[in-house]
Amino acid sequence: MALIVQKFGGSSVADPESIKRVAKRIVETRKAGNEVVVAVSAMGDTTDELLDLAAKVTPMPGGRELDMLLTAGERISMALLSMAIRGLGVEARSYTGSQAGMITDAQHGKARIVDVTPGRVREALDQGAVAIVAGFQGFNRSTGDITTLGRGGSDTTAVALAAALSADVCEIYTDVDGIFTADPRVVPRAKKLDRITSEEMLELAAAGSKVLYIRAVEYARRHGVTLHVRSSFNNNEGTLVVNPKEENTWKSRSSRASPAI
Ligand code: ASP
Ligand code: MG
Repeated sequence: MALIVQKFGGSSVADPESIKRVAKRIVETRKAGNEVVVAVSAMGDTTDELLDLAAKVTPMPGGRELDMLLTAGERISMALLSMAIRGLGVEARSYTGSQAGMITDAQHGKARIVDVTPGRVREALDQGAVAIVAGFQGFNRSTGDITTLGRGGSDTTAVALAAALSADVCEIYTDVDGIFTADPRVVPRAKKLDRITSEEMLELAAAGSKVLYIRAVEYARRHGVTLHVRSSFNNNEGTLVVNPKEENTWKSRSSRASPAI
């Protein structure tokens, strides 16, 4: 049995139909015998709409209140996604960032993850449930306040969960088929890459590729998490982002799980 973390961005859960489509995909992964943890972003443009709303009540909303407001977006999508999965007859439970143990520093709007204590997520998996975690949010122990990780931060939530749970792979679902040599919408002959190292991915991200959030790639490299960037619209293999020291992470992880004594 593999442990798979799946991340779905805002465009993958933009409306009820999309949420049901994503739920089906999660259920298929679960029914194939895997343990599944999902990190989900807010629906569609929710985060932008919440920011606009804040700007309409004051020019200075303040970091703490802004984080409280923005994290509501992911709370909506996680609950709806969990309901949709349960509607398909599979047990699912949603968790806020703090419930899932995403501990951060205290910087509102750009917090960094300092620890992950996913006890409740592990417990849900042990009971056969799919765990749905709100992306992009955490909790600071000293202030006791809710934080956000910066725009696009759900990728980091997924990678951090994958690292803390020793997942076999972290699948990042998006609306393109993977990582390309150039933007396929601009350069029609751009080629999809089957495999790339996290070093190369960091270079692409620095050069403007927006497919993966740079902090998430750094986190994956530091913690040896294999990423699989793929489309939520088909079942094609996407692009594997691997870590050179651990070229075949999948194999080395399973051999680590059962050490030869
Ligand atoms: N909803 C947040 C944003 O739009 C986080 C994310 O999408 O990853 O930035
Ligand atoms: Mg978003």
